[in-house]
Amino acid sequence: EHNSYLLSNDDDKYFSYIFKFGTGFYKVNYYKDLFIKNIHNSLTRFKVYNDHENPRLDLFRTDKIIDHLNIIISSGINKINLLVLTLFNIIISFCIIIKIHHLLSNYFSIDNSMSRLINKGVRNNEFIPYYQNIYSFSTKKFIGAEVLCRWNHKGEILTPNYFIRKLESSDNINIVTFRLIEQAFKDLNCSNNQDYLLSFNFTVAMILDCLFVDKVINFIETTPNVKNHIIIELTESDNRFKQLDDIRKVMLKLKKHGVLLSIDDFGTGYSNLLTIQELPFDVMKIDRAFVSSEYAVSNSNMLDMMVKLGNSMNLLIVVEGVETEDELNRIKDLGVDFCQGFYYSKPSNSEIFKKSLSC
Ligand code: C2E
Ligand code: CA
Ligand code: CA
Repeated sequence: EHNSYLLSNDDDKYFSYIFKFGTGFYKVNYYKDLFIKNIHNSLTRFKVYNDHENPRLDLFRTDKIIDHLNIIISSGINKINLLVLTLFNIIISFCIIIKIHHLLSNYFSIDNSMSRLINKGVRNNEFIPYYQNIYSFSTKKFIGAEVLCRWNHKGEILTPNYFIRKLESSDNINIVTFRLIEQAFKDLNCSNNQDYLLSFNFTVAMILDCLFVDKVINFIETTPNVKNHIIIELTESDNRFKQLDDIRKVMLKLKKHGVLLSIDDFGTGYSNLLTIQELPFDVMKIDRAFVSSEYAVSNSNMLDMMVKLGNSMNLLIVVEGVETEDELNRIKDLGVDFCQGFYYSKPSNSEIFKKSLSC
């Protein structure tokens, strides 16, 4: 029934003045010592608490300590305010849930529309080959090129990081890869360079797809100048490498038809020494992480060790991602056979590639 109180504390150290203000009650503790010394006007604590002893003060406890001040103020919230606050929280939470739901459904519809765009792109032949030359240290010229997929989407040339995982997750990758092989050998045929090699990226799933492998073999056997000019790269980071026996059988079959096999991104993936020992690879492509100064590992002697390992297994060794003269100097005397990177050649389209072959 009171709007204000003045209370004296038992130990007589301070007295409190409680008063109603707005929707809450405030309590000011006056420390007698400080009061007498005239050090007042400063706060020690801000307190909101549930005072069960006084039903009128339906307050909730929280402490906010303001240590450098010397007065305590207790304040609180009544039931109506609490209700309003709870309602407000419910509305805000509801809005957040709706927003998250909206974002998630947007994400999945983008994913779906990406699939639709890719399907359309495959139908319209929008996936095209780009070529990056591979330099030989012994002959001091380009001995071949890696064929890298690009998506010519509405006139914009997109690199694989935009689409390759999506493409690889469906049969589209087989269709696209086969077209890249056909197109690349057509482009190569305009030159009279008989020794040139073309290298293609395959996934382990593609290697394990008998129908697809037979189709590639049929192409090799029926098209002039393909046999002994084709390299298939399997990326080491593909965790399906576990099916060693099945992969080995297909690799041996491909080798009979003049295919060279290369382990891509060596040093980055799941494979262990057993994998390269068990599988009949011809080429080891060492990942750019081991040569590029961007990566800490390039300073270690891992590269040297990998080259020695490759040499001891009679593998041809390609170092990828050489961009600068410094990086080139680092690998020159290691016993590497080939080098692929922006320093020698950037991936280029069919026209530029054909010109470089002097077609
Ligand atoms: P990858 O097989 O390791 O191909 C080499 C990648 O390194 C290419 O990127 C190439 O442009 C890039 N590169 C080459 N030299 C340098 C260099 O000096 N510095 C730097 N920073 N990068 C360099 P790209 O063309 O974007 O391809 C990325 C990946 O996409 C490829 O890596 C490969 O895993 C995949 N990919 C490309 N084409 C195909 C394809 O036809 N089929 C499949 N399944 N995967 C493909
Ligand atoms: Ca590759
Ligand atoms: Ca690679």
